[in-house]
Amino acid sequence: MTDIFSLTYEQACALLCENGFRATQAANIFRDIYKNKAGSFDEMKSVSAKVKQLLSDRFYFGVLKIDEILQSVDTVKYLFELSDGCRVETVLMRQKYGNSVCISTQSGCNMGCKFCCSGRMKKQRDLTCAEMILQILSVEKHQNITISNITVMGIGEPFDNYRALCDFIDIATLPHGLEMGTNHITVSTCGLCDRIRQFADRKDPCNLAVSLHAPNDEIRDMLMPVNRRYKVGEVIKAAKYYSEKCNRKVLLEYIMLDGINDSRENAGQLAELIGEARLFVNLIPFNASNGSIYRRSSEEKITAFYDELKKNGINVTRRKEFGSQLSAACGQLRSDRIISIDTQSGGTI
Ligand code: SAH
Repeated sequence: MTDIFSLTYEQACALLCENGFRATQAANIFRDIYKNKAGSFDEMKSVSAKVKQLLSDRFYFGVLKIDEILQSVDTVKYLFELSDGCRVETVLMRQKYGNSVCISTQSGCNMGCKFCCSGRMKKQRDLTCAEMILQILSVEKHQNITISNITVMGIGEPFDNYRALCDFIDIATLPHGLEMGTNHITVSTCGLCDRIRQFADRKDPCNLAVSLHAPNDEIRDMLMPVNRRYKVGEVIKAAKYYSEKCNRKVLLEYIMLDGINDSRENAGQLAELIGEARLFVNLIPFNASNGSIYRRSSEEKITAFYDELKKNGINVTRRKEFGSQLSAACGQLRSDRIISIDTQSGGTI
């Protein structure tokens, strides 16, 4: 049996055709699930009894259990428990332009970035497409809101779970599905260059963010084990390929770590690396957590770094901080398991 939220439109069409139904019924299936928010086969009103039977023989409606919720004014952080007990984090941020949700793609992560909490928890498994979709649907239902933006920046490396990620994006952007524009979805990767290129070659590509965090191999080797496989120069080349092929701006994420990567000289190196390319730098204040060996750069250092990039003609922004007091940086809730506010013990949504 498969969770129905993993079913893509193409798969639904194929299943219908193989069983003697018209492929056009797929639109009805998706309308029931994603527009009418059916939570069971009984609640599906647009499809025939025979189609319902076909579906219920193969699929079930999955749910995520809320294990913990932390809230502040503009941020709500969920710790969800999956059917096998694995836990993942999802963060809702209320932005000026709408509701944005940051989803996880794996339970734990094997990339091992030294500054990141997710890396302390080895990957237990990849999430299914359904488990990604359900993070969105669960938050929408719990908050009674519509999500307008998705960032795939939670726990895990999305490109290390590529098939499920692509299915997720297909359903998220499908007019009969979540109906999100591709420019409202951003996928963040630690820099798996082959996948960046493969992702660029898909139809309807979404926005891309690349976790660079260093202006040279010496520093990146120290922070990110993935740099042994894909060097800084290659990562920049792949990012350029994406931005040119997809005609989209690509964000280079850069965590400011005190005394590690935040000197004026580092800013100069970064500017040189980018050159004329349409790559945008997003400076991220480091969110320290228990046992972290790094500290966040001072405001003065961040400003000087920012100014140096600007002076060199680089497009640079500073990330607005959401939920730092909620341990909202990647993997922090799962690894800290700090205070629990408003725990809906045992409840499913
Ligand atoms: N694996 C993907 C997506 C998950 S991490 C990636 O590497 O991009 C999402 C972003 O959060 C990355 O840029 C990551 O480097 C950053 N991040 C991780 N831990 C952080 C921390 N403690 N403070 C600030 N940003 C952090």
